[in-house]
Amino acid sequence: MIVVLKADATEEQIRQIQDKAESLGLKTHISRGQSKTVMGLIGPEDALRVVPLEVFPGVERVIPVLPPYKLVSREFQPEDTVIRITDDLAIGGKAVVVMAGPCSIESKEGLMTIARQVKESGATILRGGAFKPRTSPYDFQGLGEEGLRYLAEAGRTYGLATVTEVMDPRDVALVAGYVDILQIGARNMQNFSLLREVGKTRKPVMLKRGMSATIKEWLMSAEYILSNGNFQVMLCERGIRTYETATRNTLDINAVAVIKKLSHLPVIVDPSHATGYWDLVEAAARAGVAAGCDGLMVEVHDRPEEAMSDGPQSLKPANFARLMRSLSAIASAVSRAL
Ligand code: PEP
Ligand code: MN
Repeated sequence: MIVVLKADATEEQIRQIQDKAESLGLKTHISRGQSKTVMGLIGPEDALRVVPLEVFPGVERVIPVLPPYKLVSREFQPEDTVIRITDDLAIGGKAVVVMAGPCSIESKEGLMTIARQVKESGATILRGGAFKPRTSPYDFQGLGEEGLRYLAEAGRTYGLATVTEVMDPRDVALVAGYVDILQIGARNMQNFSLLREVGKTRKPVMLKRGMSATIKEWLMSAEYILSNGNFQVMLCERGIRTYETATRNTLDINAVAVIKKLSHLPVIVDPSHATGYWDLVEAAARAGVAAGCDGLMVEVHDRPEEAMSDGPQSLKPANFARLMRSLSAIASAVSRAL
């Protein structure tokens, strides 16, 4: 349930409503926008049939929320969420941000080389997996904490923010100590203990869409994170499973527009996992920006033929540079900057 407050509601009136809701066992979250202050109520709403909040001074109207997600909804927060990563880097504002780097962190030197190259081309966030969710237990599983150290060092050296996947609730504090953004991978989108754990931190989280998840399920997963107190969440469309076999996944470009309609959270597009082939990445990335995404995550490797994971979909640095040049025109065509 969403309570829209009157423009002149006093702090005391707001407190009164909050106290009442909390005494009925509901959790409250306040969103102070430029034009409106809104209170989201989570919990057993039936209690409000007995005590209708409409009668409280300061309340403009009460909106029952039909979709099961609340805190992530546009009704709760009409303005776009802007996640500040560093003083000069924000996600969800006018600029489209680009995260780039290898699928897996393989060595310090290798990561440093790729970090320098993506920085030169204009990326602002370095990606690299240290804990890898591999289909086969016999495949490279990542360097673990050693990889996190390399990622943090490469980020510092080249002035790049960092993002990496955390797979296990027990590793959340460790990973959060090294990077700027915690990535939840597609395979863990409904790992509710993990979602709760990252929800308890105050680190920005990038929640990738499960490979067979509906948009509603994806938003419900984001709701887990917000309802635990962490509102710094962005959603990443990385392609879904369909009957099509020509590509690794099918990029659901509709999802960008649907999320923008239903939610205030920033949307990232991952054209690498969405297509599975490096020569399709540019077209998918351009489509993402044209559709209104707030950022891209692109896999880049200087020697894709030797990559320990996802070589076939990794762009060589020169092709990444070309992609970045071609994106500026698309971004300005949709009133965004790169
Ligand atoms: C990745 O980003 O390397 C990754 C494993 O992505 P996804 O979870 O989308 O498959
Ligand atoms: Mn990958």
